[in-house]
Amino acid sequence: MKVKAYNQGMLKTELCNKWQESGTCPYGDNCQFAHGMRELRPVVRHPRYKTQICRMVLTRGTCPYGHRCHFRHSLDHQDR
Ligand SMILES: [Zn+2]
Ligand SMILES: [Zn+2]
Repeated sequence: MKVKAYNQGMLKTELCNKWQESGTCPYGDNCQFAHGMRELRPVVRHPRYKTQICRMVLTRGTCPYGHRCHFRHSLDHQDR
């Protein structure tokens, strides 16, 4: 499975919530989120990023990954 390697590629592609709120983070250097723009890395998109409808949204109407989900959440192509 290539899923693990891909997940590692997502490290520090988002700002740390804790760090944003308080300026510190208990995880320090081990945190999987970026502490500041200097640590923020460009997101490596999956080649099929958001080209397929999210199954979670289809079956449950909601997705636990939210905007981090690799699949599309809107059921049509047109933005309102
Ligand atoms: Zn952090
Ligand atoms: Zn989703």
